[in-house]
Amino acid sequence: MTPPDRNLDSEAKGVHCSLCPHRCLLKEGSTGLCGVRSARGGREFSLIGNRIAALAEDPVEKKPLYHFFPGSTLLSLGTLGCNLSCLFCQNHDLSFFSGKGSPQAVTGEALSAERLVKEALGCRAVGVAYTYNEPTVFADTFRECWGPAVKEAGLANVWVTNGYMTPETLSGVAPLIEAVNQDLKFFTDEAYHRWTGGSLDPVLKSLLMWREAGVWLEVTTLIIPGLNDSPLPFRQTARWIRENLGRETPWHLSRFFPRFRLDHIPPTPPETLSHLRGIALEEGLHHVYLGNVSDPEGEKTLCPECGRTLIERSGYRVHIQGLKKGRCAGCGALPAGRWERE
Ligand code: SF4
Repeated sequence: MTPPDRNLDSEAKGVHCSLCPHRCLLKEGSTGLCGVRSARGGREFSLIGNRIAALAEDPVEKKPLYHFFPGSTLLSLGTLGCNLSCLFCQNHDLSFFSGKGSPQAVTGEALSAERLVKEALGCRAVGVAYTYNEPTVFADTFRECWGPAVKEAGLANVWVTNGYMTPETLSGVAPLIEAVNQDLKFFTDEAYHRWTGGSLDPVLKSLLMWREAGVWLEVTTLIIPGLNDSPLPFRQTARWIRENLGRETPWHLSRFFPRFRLDHIPPTPPETLSHLRGIALEEGLHHVYLGNVSDPEGEKTLCPECGRTLIERSGYRVHIQGLKKGRCAGCGALPAGRWERE
């Protein structure tokens, strides 16, 4: 006999989902906030299964990951749904798909673990990125199907995530993951709540847990005029990153463009990005990058010891000029990152 679901709430006639801090009560015929999880026969289940909505080859720099096998390719996949409701979502077709809330609306092409590995090897990718929508909402499929097969094939699993997950979800997937780019969208709980429907603490906790688990970690913040571009909280956050994640943690500051429900806000002025980058450098972070904007200084990787240019970038074009076998060609220092695959 199948044991009862440990998250069953008989009184409320539903099952609590434990994937993310919303801990939605799932009932038959309806979905949680992400739109892709429901309950059947008193048990939680994924409406996604192994169905995908997008599969494409991407440069690793697009994730963005700048210290993880630069110049390589990742096979990127996405499904449907998201557990946050960001009003500035850049991928809202997938995250807020039409019919969200209705189990019948979840569609997509089935992708077996074997085919995923074959496709990744076929395009000579260094690994598979779970991106385009939030992987937390399909963490079970990742853990039981795609993730182990990719790892066994000697490829890297990479998560591009909002970090809004429970510690049990993160502990369950981290042993399969080599690299993560996690968002840190806002610096206060109030802003997280207002603009994303989430909260700050679980996101910070996830950053700490990736670091403790030994996963390669880079952080991204989309800088939105008037929402998160004030210097003081930004400086405090830079300090938090330095003290808790380490000064060699790459931090990507991306330029906002009007999108979705914040299409009335103008693009971030490039000067704002440069100013904030200067603050983060003053606070002692070594690798602060600018994205969605042309800024050669904000795209370079410098040796943290001698200042020599290790890697130059222009968009997704990469020129590795000062790095030999993961060491600075000038002083021999070992900059933090995963540089060469064995
Ligand atoms: S993953 Fe979806 S269903 Fe589960 S708690 Fe989060 S929003 Fe709710």
